[in-house]
Amino acid sequence: MTTTGQPSSTASGAAQAIGRIPNSVLERLKAAAGPNGWSTDPARLAPHLLDQRRRYQGATPLLLLPDSTEAVAAIVRVCAETRTAIVPQGGNTGLVGGATPSPAGDAVLINLGRMNRVRGLDREAATITVEAGCVLAAVQKAAADAGLLFPLSLGAEGSCQIGGNLATNAGGLQVLRYGTARALTLGLEAVLPDGRVWNGLRGLMKDNTGYDLKQLLIGSEGTLGIITAAVLRLFPLPEQRVTALVAVNDVTSALGVMATLRAASGDRLSACEIISARALEFVMRHTRGTKPPFSDLHPWVLLVECEGGAGDGLGAAVETALADLLERAVAADAVVAQSTAQAQAMWRLRETIPQAQTAEGGSIKHDISVPPARAQEFMRTAEAAVTQALAGVRVCAFGHLGDGNIHYNLSQPVGMDPQKFLGEWDRLARIVHDLAVAAGGSISAEHGIGQAKRDDLVRYKPAVEIDLMRAVKLAIDPLGIMNPGKMLYAVAVPAR
Ligand SMILES: Cc1cc2nc3c(=O)[nH]c(=O)nc-3n(C[C@H](O)[C@H](O)[C@H](O)COP(=O)(O)OP(=O)(O)OC[C@H]3O[C@@H](n4cnc5c(N)ncnc54)[C@H](O)[C@@H]3O)c2cc1C
Repeated sequence: MTTTGQPSSTASGAAQAIGRIPNSVLERLKAAAGPNGWSTDPARLAPHLLDQRRRYQGATPLLLLPDSTEAVAAIVRVCAETRTAIVPQGGNTGLVGGATPSPAGDAVLINLGRMNRVRGLDREAATITVEAGCVLAAVQKAAADAGLLFPLSLGAEGSCQIGGNLATNAGGLQVLRYGTARALTLGLEAVLPDGRVWNGLRGLMKDNTGYDLKQLLIGSEGTLGIITAAVLRLFPLPEQRVTALVAVNDVTSALGVMATLRAASGDRLSACEIISARALEFVMRHTRGTKPPFSDLHPWVLLVECEGGAGDGLGAAVETALADLLERAVAADAVVAQSTAQAQAMWRLRETIPQAQTAEGGSIKHDISVPPARAQEFMRTAEAAVTQALAGVRVCAFGHLGDGNIHYNLSQPVGMDPQKFLGEWDRLARIVHDLAVAAGGSISAEHGIGQAKRDDLVRYKPAVEIDLMRAVKLAIDPLGIMNPGKMLYAVAVPAR
């Protein structure tokens, strides 16, 4: 039996066993994907069927691996004709189960990884046109090779794909200066749920010709179409970066540090990450080769980075601003990296928090944002509320303070059974989300809704917003075949 993309008249046993999709449809989809464009090999499928956080296990009779927009369009046309559900997937690093098909095995999975070409780079316009399956780090490198910067940057950049980044409107570490994926995208090419190709690869900074369709697709988590290519904005490659750690006593002081550094650097503060004392404690315990950045323990440490041209006095400006902040006691301590190695060591403190938290046992994750002015109050009330709900729970907060995005994570009480703790997920999440929304914030700052937050979406969004979202979904995907059940509860796929 052939299971890896070589056309075969024999359908896979797995397909017959788990799928509700007729074999005749699967054969048509294989033909549309072309040779090497599909797999039914269980070993090859397995990593695509479990989400990053290991919370969702999916099933599918067929993994499609097209290598061109035409192949994607041919596949989707078959899906539309046969009312077959289709789940788009990039690097499968998403944190809300959006790229995992349902366990019923009633959808095909389409992974864009083979569509990984850079179609063009325009130095004058400072744009790069890439296919959706390009890994984010590869796009950053292609830009850097041309002396330019693609500033989207996140922990999963070695494996997430541009298509996934746009479908989730990824944020990451440099939103403060460059914005989210929305702000970095000038044009899109996508295959719509009826199989038509929309070529919106215009690359224009200004284009007021009606509804902005690319912005509808960005952040749509694969529910409105399959992104196949994008025109992305590039920026001058910074000639120098000034990286520092700043200790503060509370979030209000952290915001003061951020505002001062923004002003002193001429708005060239590109990252402002906040790390709680507990997150730092976990890193010290579990990340090899790290050492405490300060001799004293402080409630919060900020990782700040400014970037600019060589010889423009950025380093001196940051040092002067930090000295002023220390003198005014806004900052409790500060250290500026004197080498690239030191800067990398500082980033390691921030980037290894998730692994360090995992080593502490069960963790319940929240990706909330609150208006910066309410962040201090949120931290105080949230810690009191979750501790009252579960004695001994350990708050491990960190995040992108620059844009109000806090990963308000909880670690299990010491000695508690991890599974029992994870059983508290919904109860504790309700407390955290209620408080975030009461503070004027969001229950999902950057990870999206996927399967994980569908109930929360309905609970916290005004009904009129949900109605409009459903209307958009119905208008673009009337058959409900595109990533059904993600973000919004499924519009039922009509019977064949
Ligand atoms: C260590 C780590 C750090 C992270 N840090 C951040 C962070 O700082 N900021 C942040 O925003 N996220 C972060 N994430 C989450 C994740 O990396 C992002 O959501 C990323 O953008 C997902 O890209 P992906 O290619 O892995 O998409 P997938 O996980 O494969 O898919 C995500 C969603 O997009 C849809 N999709 C994928 N490709 C396409 C396509 N071509 N067309 C249409 N829909 C598509 C899927 O159906 C799914 O709904 C992090 C994840 C990890 C593991």
